[in-house]
Parts: sequence; C-alpha cells; structure tokens
Amino acid sequence: MLDLAAAQQVLKTTFGYDEFRPGQRAVIEHVLAGDSSLAIMPTGGGKSLCYQIPAMLFDGITVVVSPLISLMKDQVDALNDSGIPATFINSSLEWPEIQERLAALHDGAYKLLYVAPERLDSAAFIQALGRLPIDLLAVDEAHCISQWGHDFRPSYLALSTAIEQLPTQPQVLALTATATEQVADDIRQQLNIAPQNEVNTGFARDNLNLTVVKNQDTDRYILEYLKVNAGETGIIYASTRKEVERVTKMLTRHHIQAAAYHAGLPDEKRRQNQEDFLYDRIQVMVATNAFGMGIDKSNVRFVIHAQVPGTLEAYYQEAGRAGRDGLPSEAILLFRAQDLQIQRFFIDQSEEMDEEHRQRSYDKLQVMSQYANTQGCLQQFILNYFGEESKPCGRCSNCLDDREAQDVTTAAQKVLSCVVRLRARYGKGIVAQVLTGAHNQRIRENHLEELPTYGIMQGQRQKSVGELIDFLSAAGYLQSVGGQYPTLQVTTNGAAVLKGEEQVYRKMARQVKRLAPEDDEL
Ligand code: ADP
Ligand code: ZN
Repeated sequence: MLDLAAAQQVLKTTFGYDEFRPGQRAVIEHVLAGDSSLAIMPTGGGKSLCYQIPAMLFDGITVVVSPLISLMKDQVDALNDSGIPATFINSSLEWPEIQERLAALHDGAYKLLYVAPERLDSAAFIQALGRLPIDLLAVDEAHCISQWGHDFRPSYLALSTAIEQLPTQPQVLALTATATEQVADDIRQQLNIAPQNEVNTGFARDNLNLTVVKNQDTDRYILEYLKVNAGETGIIYASTRKEVERVTKMLTRHHIQAAAYHAGLPDEKRRQNQEDFLYDRIQVMVATNAFGMGIDKSNVRFVIHAQVPGTLEAYYQEAGRAGRDGLPSEAILLFRAQDLQIQRFFIDQSEEMDEEHRQRSYDKLQVMSQYANTQGCLQQFILNYFGEESKPCGRCSNCLDDREAQDVTTAAQKVLSCVVRLRARYGKGIVAQVLTGAHNQRIRENHLEELPTYGIMQGQRQKSVGELIDFLSAAGYLQSVGGQYPTLQVTTNGAAVLKGEEQVYRKMARQVKRLAPEDDEL
C-alpha cells in the first residue's frame, strides 16, 4: 500500500530525516496518488526527496530529467552511497556503456535513472526508454521548458512529445525554484498537470537578508565586508570571466582564500575549485552564473553580486544559494547603472534569441533595474514579481532604511512633464540632459533647447537627475520601453502626479556641500 506512512518510513530509514519539510508531504501525496504534479519550492527546500522517496516506493523506474550534466555523476554516486540504486545516461558515455545500463535497468537493477534533456531528442533513446517500466518522470529545473522563463532550453520542448511516446504513460512531477505565474501556467499546460496538483510553498526565504548597495567601489566594499565577516564562506558573482578573474586576483592579493569558476577554465581546474569550495578549503568562490546550479553547500553565508545579473529570476536563484542550512544569511547586490549595459550587450549578442525573445529579455532587465532602484521592501518586490502577496519583511536594506522620506513631487513633475514633451521618443540620458539644459549636438540637431522644459533643472547634476529618473521608474511613475535604447514613457500613476493628484516621496541621502564639482557623465 503506497501511503504517506510508507513515505515517512523511507524518509527516516533511507534518508535519516524525522520530518518532512514544508511542501514535501503534499507533493509526495500527489505523486503517490498517481497525479501529475508541479512542485514550486525555494532553492534548498528539498525538492529531490519529492521524487526520490516515491522512486523507492514504486515498483518501476523513476526517470529524472536534469540539465545538470556535470553534476549527474556526483548526484548518482551520492545516492548509491546512501543505498539508493541509481544510474545516469548522458553524452559523456559511449554507446556500449549506455546499452549496458539500459539492460541493467531492464533487469530492475536501478530505481532511478538520470538523463539529460538532450537525450530526449533521440528517437532511438525514446524507444529504448519505452521498453522500460517507467512509473514516474521527474522534470528538474522545469522552468527551462518555458519561453517565458529566464533559462529556456529548447531541448526541454521535446519532453511532452517524449512522454506521449512512452507506452507506460508515466505520471510527471515537475520541479522548480523559480516560476512566475505565467511560467507555472506554461509548465502545467505543456506537461498536462491539473491546477489543483500544483504545490507552491511560496518563495519567501525568511533567513535571507536582501541588500542593495548603489554606486560603491566594488573592491573596497567586498574587502570591508570580508573584514567584518571574517572567516565566513560565500559566493561573489560577476557577469564576465574577466571580472571574475580580476576579483579573484584582488582577493588573493589581500590574503583571502578565493578561487574562480567560469566556463573559460579547463574542466579539471573548475572541478578542483568547486571541490575546494565544497570542502571549505577556500572561503570565497568568485564565479559567473556558470556556477551554482545543483551545488548543495549548506553553510554559504553570503552571496554578493558584484555586477547586476540579467533577470530577477536569475538573481533570486543565485542569491538563494546562501543559507541553505536555514541560518541567517546575506544576499547583496552591488548596483551601478552602467553594469546594465553589459547585460544589454549579452542580449544583443545572443544568436539564439528571436526578436520576441530579445524584447522579453530587455523587459526582464528592466525589472532587475527596478529592483535595484526601488525604495520599497526588496523581498516584497521579489515575491510580488512571482505573484505572491506579502508584507514588508522588516529585514532588507530598504525596510531598515531609516532616512526620512522627502516630498519630491515638484521635481518629479518637472521630469514627468519633460518626458511628455519629448513624446516618449528619448531615453534617460537625453531627458536628463534636456532638464539640466545641456549643450550638445544631439540636443541642437533635434531642437530640444526650444522645449519649455529645457533647463528647468539647471544647476543640478545630470547624474542626480538620472538617479531621480531611475527612482521614478522603480516607483512606477515612468516606464522604459524598447530594447537596446529604451525610451521613457509616463505611466498612469505618473499622469496622476502631473495632475497634482498624487504626491511623490523619496528617501535621500542628506545634502552634503561639495567642495569640487564632480564629472557629470551619465
Ligand atoms: P532543492 O533541490 O530544493 O534545492 P535539495 O533537494 O537539494 O533542495 O535539498 C536541500 C538539502 O535539504 C539537502 O541537503 C537535503 O538532504 C536536505 N533535506 C531535504 N529534505 C529534508 C528533510 N525533510 N529534513 C531535513 N533535511 C532535508
Ligand atoms: Zn524588506
């Protein structure tokens, strides 16, 4: 009899845990009842047990589709160590070895089979799978199936066809830590999962303190942080290999045990650095986004993003690698507006994206920028993005920001009316130049000095007007549209401010008198 009592038993005897974590029980219940289901749980929430426990209870085989090819062997070794018969098939194996494993699977030697999604493109492989008694198909990182997600992988599209071709018609369990409502809908639709079979434990990570730090010197900030938090382990993410190398060298120079991880390193070196990090032989891993998926290190105390990532989904997933043990941990974003340019470059350079995909990527970058510029609760911002209602967290850098909010309605009106005058044809740079009355060729050529809003913020620095624009965007009074060179538009809320129906408040640093003028570049 497959019931929860049996599952509880496996939890205890095979995995050595006394209690289910939130969501695990509900997911396992769906799976044991034979329903195809979707599990949305935060990173570190314990998704793997949701299919590993049923796998132990089912007579047949559980196939796990996972994009983490480089980790498959480790995962399978770890399972074998705890007495769970598992194997994997991916492109690292020769055909005779694959056949041997398939034969062993046929003879019931394994409960779990890990495969890379690319395998499902092969008709021969699907046929071979079709001869196995498959009870359950677990789809890890299921958001990869959706073009609305941030990590769409075309090979995941082959999943639904593959399932149709399997004679056993196995039930599906899709799992992800990152899905907006739209992505969740898409996963359910593509994999035929009924809405009532979705288990969503929520995205909140109460032990994670979110912080945004703007316009700080990266190296100084990191060194200072590591001094105050001496001996604590963490990850520093950067967008480019070059920056990863630079930060690693900088830390090493300051006698901090750090290593680099990015796709440009030889496999052996990458593996070595990863192990050094997992076994606490180094304190800090400096990495591109190539590092982290599937890494189960519990005592990561901080994740610092030295450069802004391209999407809020990616940010939260990477940040969530801090504090898997449930202890208080920090997720810090060091934000400079010019780093958005690196992400724009990535989007422009990508050859995989069609126009629509490119536009979606720009929109996601916009959200990331809003996160960096919002004065509201950071956790609430993220949860809201994932479609979850919540109260301010009381822990993030914005909740703890005790500066008094000032009424900036008049300044906001100046900006908004300038944007209206410019008929939504220009971006932040030009808007700030027009407002501050800058003289340059572009302004002259377009006769922008003739506008009534030209120079109405004269005397202010372009940079601070730019920051006001970012603030107004994050607060929802302005929006940027378009791709590489987004243009500004006034939103409905912004229109209300222009009509004097709404006041705008902003927390600002106290005005310090400047002795020397600073450069005014945007
Ligand atoms: P996810 O895939 O959701 O990020 P994992 O499945 O890797 O998370 O689980 C994260 C960690 O939590 C693992 O070390 C796992 O052994 C542990 N874990 C999972 N379920 C439980 C439980 N019920 N009790 C205690 N620890 C658990
Ligand atoms: Zn907060």
